[in-house]
Amino acid sequence: MKDNFEVALTKCFFCGENDKIVMNTRLNSRVAGAVKKAHGKVIDYEPCNDCKENMKKGVMVIETKDGEKGHNPFRTGRIAVVKDSAIKELINDEVLLGDILDKRMMYIHESTSNQIHLFNHMKGE
Ligand SMILES: [Zn+2]
Repeated sequence: MKDNFEVALTKCFFCGENDKIVMNTRLNSRVAGAVKKAHGKVIDYEPCNDCKENMKKGVMVIETKDGEKGHNPFRTGRIAVVKDSAIKELINDEVLLGDILDKRMMYIHESTSNQIHLFNHMKGE
């Protein structure tokens, strides 16, 4: 007999690290199934605590493979936190800049981040 109880560890949309633990309080198989499916997945666009801290320091610049587009592009795993002042120098488009500063994150293609040597001074690079 199944007890209809599940616990899942979700992932942060921004950094991909472990985020929250979710569990079902209603012990029916439908809710338990939904919780089970959430394990290892992104379930919302709320930044994890580390990302919240990073977003206070600057904008999270998330590197993607070249040619990737859309809301959730394929990522390389490299992330930089760039100060707002530097973002303002990088982005000329006022509307885009406002959007980036508001969202506290942006994507960058691998070839572009290499051109501007974004990750050259980071640890392990
Ligand atoms: Zn995160």
